[in-house]
Amino acid sequence: MKRKVLVSGGSRGIGAACVRRFVKAGYDVAAVYHSNDAAAAALGGELSGIALGAGSALAFIKADVSDPGEARRAAGEAEAELGRIDVLVNCAGIADIRLFTDISDDGWRRMIDTDLSSAFYLSREAVPGMIRRRFGRIINIGSVWGRLGASCEVHYSAAKAGLRGMTSALAKELGPSGITVNCVEPGVIDTEMNLHLSAGDIASLCEATPLCRLGTPQDVAQACAFLLSDSASFITGQVLGVDGGYI
Ligand code: NDP
Repeated sequence: MKRKVLVSGGSRGIGAACVRRFVKAGYDVAAVYHSNDAAAAALGGELSGIALGAGSALAFIKADVSDPGEARRAAGEAEAELGRIDVLVNCAGIADIRLFTDISDDGWRRMIDTDLSSAFYLSREAVPGMIRRRFGRIINIGSVWGRLGASCEVHYSAAKAGLRGMTSALAKELGPSGITVNCVEPGVIDTEMNLHLSAGDIASLCEATPLCRLGTPQDVAQACAFLLSDSASFITGQVLGVDGGYI
């Protein structure tokens, strides 16, 4: 069956790697992004020929999924473009490094809204159709910091830990409807989110990673491709670390 996939945060980094992987697999894909029109246009230009050749739909939707109304509009537009949503990859996210005592109310809310609530808002829109069709796949992109916690990233770690709980609970609730819900937790991945890291930071992160390197967006996209494939049809409620063994 040709999968119809919505990827939030699909213009750059891990989300863009998922979009590339899914378009190349012949799926119909809607990529939601926040504001970077140039990145979305570049990815669209790169992939439009492949999508055309495969007879696949590829749509880019600009929306702020940290807002429930915007998430509803984005999911509605994705459904209109694709016909339905079989697979939802909740990948949109922001990072923010600061001392716990420097996190403002607005900063806390912005992080939770973007990295946790957006997954709730988009899932809430996609799930009723999945239940009706008795098929669906939800993949939440968490983080190794949701498991371990990161100093100076308390709000980020809390949001990502929230995705773990949401994954386990939703998997139980939706399993009887033929819907799987899993969480992929990347380690340190080489994307623009980590541009602030110094060479020294990167060296120590690689040292703490048994596989001795940063991950690539493609490493994460492969795991997502597996979880949405038929090979993963009996896997739900799981947290899959794509972190090189980071401890
Ligand atoms: P990037 O910063 O490279 O890309 C972030 C993507 O999310 C962009 O497409 C961006 O859109 C989109 N986005 C951000 N905020 C919103 C919003 N409010 N509404 C809609 N889209 C939004 O990040 P990564 O690819 O590195 O990270 C992707 C996910 O993976 C995040 O959830 C992140 O927390 C998680 N992760 C990343 C790790 C890493 O080391 N990179 C490690 C562990 C987890 P736009 O282009 O318009 O800004």
